[in-house]
Amino acid sequence: MRPHEQALRYLFSDVQYLKGIGPAKAKVLKESGIQNVLDLFFHIPRKYLDRTQITPIGELAEGTVATVVGEVVSFGITGRRARRFIVNLQDDSGSLELVWFSGYKYLTDLFSPGDILAVTGRVGVYNGFQISHPDFEIISDRDDEAIHTRRIIPIYPETASLKRIGLHSRGLRKIIRPALDNLEQIKADTLPESLRREFGLLELTKAISQTHFPDNFKSAEEGHRRLAFEELFYLELLLAARQIKRTTQESGISFPRPKVLGRQLLDNLKKIYGGKFQLTNAQKRVLGEIYDDMAKPHPMNRLLQGDVGSGKTLVAILTMLGAVEAGYQAALMAPTEILAEQHGYAIVKLLEGMNIESVVFTGSISSRERENALKNIANGRIKIVIGTHTLIQEKMKFNKLGLAVIDEQHRFGVAQRASLSAKGQHPDILVMTATPIPRTLAMTLYGDLDVSVIDEMPPGRGAIKTAFVPLEKRTGLYEFLRSEVKAGRQAYIVYPLVEESEKSDLKAARESYERFSTEIFPELRLGLIHGKLKGTEKNKVMDDFRKGYIDILIGTTVIEVGLDVPNATIMIIEHVERFGLSQLHQLRGRIGRGKNKSYCFLLSDRNLSEDSEKRINIICSTQDGFKIAEADLAIRGPGEIMGTRQHGLPELRVANLTDSYILGLARKSAFAVISDDNHLLKPENHLLREVLIRKFSNKIKYSKTA
Ligand code: ADP
Ligand code: MG
Repeated sequence: MRPHEQALRYLFSDVQYLKGIGPAKAKVLKESGIQNVLDLFFHIPRKYLDRTQITPIGELAEGTVATVVGEVVSFGITGRRARRFIVNLQDDSGSLELVWFSGYKYLTDLFSPGDILAVTGRVGVYNGFQISHPDFEIISDRDDEAIHTRRIIPIYPETASLKRIGLHSRGLRKIIRPALDNLEQIKADTLPESLRREFGLLELTKAISQTHFPDNFKSAEEGHRRLAFEELFYLELLLAARQIKRTTQESGISFPRPKVLGRQLLDNLKKIYGGKFQLTNAQKRVLGEIYDDMAKPHPMNRLLQGDVGSGKTLVAILTMLGAVEAGYQAALMAPTEILAEQHGYAIVKLLEGMNIESVVFTGSISSRERENALKNIANGRIKIVIGTHTLIQEKMKFNKLGLAVIDEQHRFGVAQRASLSAKGQHPDILVMTATPIPRTLAMTLYGDLDVSVIDEMPPGRGAIKTAFVPLEKRTGLYEFLRSEVKAGRQAYIVYPLVEESEKSDLKAARESYERFSTEIFPELRLGLIHGKLKGTEKNKVMDDFRKGYIDILIGTTVIEVGLDVPNATIMIIEHVERFGLSQLHQLRGRIGRGKNKSYCFLLSDRNLSEDSEKRINIICSTQDGFKIAEADLAIRGPGEIMGTRQHGLPELRVANLTDSYILGLARKSAFAVISDDNHLLKPENHLLREVLIRKFSNKIKYSKTA
């Protein structure tokens, strides 16, 4: 057996064969995503405690941070007025009091006299030495000390279920240590030496030992870097392999460059805009990329990224015309009915006189229209179909679907995108998003996509002034709104809508609508829109707003995406603390679309948390979606925002997708390897192939589209 084969066999062996793990523990570990030994090693500490120096209690000094190991003598709640929980700890040199001011119930059940504790914290003096709310750990006996003290100690992410079976940090250390000892015997690696050398990465064994039981903080970081690289490298290798598979497959449609329809559309736009209309340079460039890609014989799989209001819809329409001119049908799928209607509205207006049949096919289409539409989609008379999830219903049959566009694609799962694509014979796919994320990250999250970016706004956009308005200034704000409406502008007032509390949110929006219509703005025309309205009612309200029959539109966040009413220049966002950054950015993107100056006002009647204040400061200080997305990544972390799971990718344990530097390196080298050796068949790639297969074989399905 080659040495790496033995190592791989060990690394990918089931956790249940490890020393100290019985069936119960194995079950919980697997539920937490730890299937094999390598997963266990990739379950990395969330932080470390420096227990290198153990100070005898007798030598403690006030004000220093110290680590002490001692025995519990007694414990309990004391104090009448200021109740607190005390533990008296003793070693050969003296005694120390640990004190907590909360969490009594939990603490009472925790200790027994005679327990050995390792304690870290800042030393105070109050009737002798005292540490309040220390980091502490119960060490079962003096033998255990070797793993848990006198060194830098790993503290792992803990979950209730892991704790329940004794796999808190101490328990995990006790199984990781011997597993690591085994690995040290085998001495082999999951990355070839050439790669390690190129990027200055630690060997596997060293990386794991320094990640879990580091000699110092710097070497822990080195360990992380190696594991992060490995994780990203194999992920990118998978993506590269998928991309090669797609682009070497010649089964797609090769569309000729459109000649007629695009020109007609631009003529229409010139009419609408009074002769002055021009695509932005970014739109032109992106369209060039798309048409080139559509001309190729393999299916296109492209992400179009552009900030809110950058003109993606127009690019999407021109893309669809490319398919239509070649005799195919095109579909546009949007996440909400309102957005689908909005796109339908734009398409009908823009394609006037071009003799292209289109239909908006949503859940609220009448049953007669529905039957009719289904028929004409199936026989090919209807060329452009706009809809929501309705497009992937079973009954929906296309005659010749050549292109599918998916708007706000992060709202759809991989499976839904794949189902739409399955409605045709390898149609070209264009997915669009307004969530601006770094390019490498986008390509990683969205799989093997190619990326086009619109990085320029159409000309003549008015600026948006954004401000937080304190309670006492509301009256003034309403007066301002009134004067703007009198000057001919329109406004949005937005309420949050979170699913769990949907009912009460709806009530809030309705009640405010009542109050605004009767008490505050009785002389103005108000409209109400929310998710519980029927589709036709929603459309009527939207239409009235678009036509200017409504001055102020009050709504829940259903207006978040896609609305395009350039005359609307004011947005008031209520309960701003309940919105995320990117949501605020999307919402605000509804205004600032015309030549008039726009205003976005943020309101709250709560005491704001630190995070809320941060978000508000960011949104007030910039309109740049890229900066906002980066701040959002920093506050929330990428997992929560983009959920790698949803994208059909394996979960990352070590790497941080915000680390675009390592991600870039990993991606570049992985793609280089695959382009040189598509199927990893060369002898020097043997290791890569084996690891790749083992890493992903049972974790993710190779999905058709990412
Ligand atoms: P996105 O979908 O990227 O958020 P939209 O496609 O809705 O943006 O475009 C926003 C607005 O800008 C629309 O009113 C659209 O008609 C207009 N627009 C798009 N491209 C141009 C352009 N080249 N010049 C002027 N206005 C444009
Ligand atoms: Mg859009």
